Amino acid sequence: MARAKAQIPPAAIVAGKPTVAIVGRPNVGKSTLFNRLVGGRRAIVEDVAGTTRDRLYGEARLGRLAFRVIDTGGLEPAAAEGYPALIRLQVEVAVAEADAIVFLVDADTGLTSADEEVSQLLRERSDKPVVLVANKADNATRREATAEFHRLALGEAIAISAYHDMGLADLGDRLESLLPEVAEEEAPGALRLAIVGRPNVGKSALVNAILGQERVLVSAEPGTTRDAVDTELEYEGQSLVLIDTAGIRRRGKVGRGVEKYSVMRAQEALERADVGLLVLDASEGVAAQDLHIAGYVADAYKGLIVVINKWDLMEDTQEEREEFAEDVLGRLKFAPWAPLAFVSAKTGLNVDGLIELALEVGEVRSQRVATAGLNTLVQKTIAAHRPSGKGKRVPRIRYATQTSISPPTFVFFVNDASLIHFSYRRYLENAIRKQFGFEGTAIRLVFRSRDEE
Ligand code: GDP
Ligand code: GDP
Repeated sequence: MARAKAQIPPAAIVAGKPTVAIVGRPNVGKSTLFNRLVGGRRAIVEDVAGTTRDRLYGEARLGRLAFRVIDTGGLEPAAAEGYPALIRLQVEVAVAEADAIVFLVDADTGLTSADEEVSQLLRERSDKPVVLVANKADNATRREATAEFHRLALGEAIAISAYHDMGLADLGDRLESLLPEVAEEEAPGALRLAIVGRPNVGKSALVNAILGQERVLVSAEPGTTRDAVDTELEYEGQSLVLIDTAGIRRRGKVGRGVEKYSVMRAQEALERADVGLLVLDASEGVAAQDLHIAGYVADAYKGLIVVINKWDLMEDTQEEREEFAEDVLGRLKFAPWAPLAFVSAKTGLNVDGLIELALEVGEVRSQRVATAGLNTLVQKTIAAHRPSGKGKRVPRIRYATQTSISPPTFVFFVNDASLIHFSYRRYLENAIRKQFGFEGTAIRLVFRSRDEE
């Protein structure tokens, strides 16, 4: 498998800090506040496609609090759509990405109808905490005047002056009370591998081969379902859990329903797993049921490795492997990203390699792509081939962001999600994979439309 991870420059991977988004109509001082919060930490200047500013994101610090900040004022909807679209886009991005939203108003000009619009949108769209902040409260008179923002029904505004660096400690205190506690570099949990496949392909032999080698067995206890067994082990300092469905068949008289039953069990095991190891028997090749299970893995957005077991029965040449791979991938059309591992549970051939591959897929699943790079790619991809519309309706993709990992999930903000054709989804997915890798795992693309134009 290609080292997908290495294709992303380190700066593109962002840490799991809480995120604060600044929203508000133009000229209230969003960018001034952003710069104040980010302070000297402005080492990276990114040219962000689809925005008016160099930087939308920054690492911020207020007192003890460290967080990521987003200046939504730099977002730029398609030119013709004007101001209401701008505000909506800001709010949508803020709601999707932030743990808390700073709604900035201007104590100099006072309350405007545009503020009311932002306030209403925030109420309609967001369940995130909103902090009302009145900027440009440079002196006592303006600080007193902030009382009128009460009418936005968001509580008392925190009066600040971003320009003169006043009131920011109050803002810090409020944010600290609202933001989730983020454990420093949270230790990732054990990677969960489900070993699935038809009866007799060698699942239990494989589990034994994995466990049999000189590894520390941490514990072996019954899984959460009575039918699958979870075994925790350590491989070169990394924790793994094997979810093993092998023993099932032997437990009851399953009889004729065995195939269907094992698919059901596989699904249960996969639900609790990060990566599915779909075991095939090299002497038999791919069966319909294997495709069924692989399809389930893809639909559940899990990682998938196709394990070609009993390779000791084959002639182990490059040519043979390539031929086999071609056959398997030709049938697994919906998961062209799944790597193959040629192993023998009997001789131990490549069993270590399989575990290393699984750990790699686990890492790929927790990879994060920076929003700036993602948007640059998306804009380029769209420019190369624009989505076709339905009649007069033309799909417009404004902004994309990776909202989560395991599975890697990308949200696209579009005018109307129903206009995005399946083939265009594929096209975007392929572009993301080409640039950022994600080999070995399904990725999720979500298209979110606005209610109205
Ligand atoms: P944005 O469009 O919301 O990002 O607003 P900007 O950050 O570009 O600021 C708009 C204008 O307000 C600029 O001329 C800033 O210098 C000014 N400004 C920002 N913060 C303050 C402040 O705290 N006090 C005063 N008096 N002016 C400010
Ligand atoms: P399961 O039903 O998928 O758990 O399959 P088992 O692990 O019980 O294996 C089924 C049969 O295949 C047994 O007779 C094993 O000895 C045999 N087997 C398993 N792995 C290998 C292998 O790598 N090479 C060979 N030649 N036989 C294997």
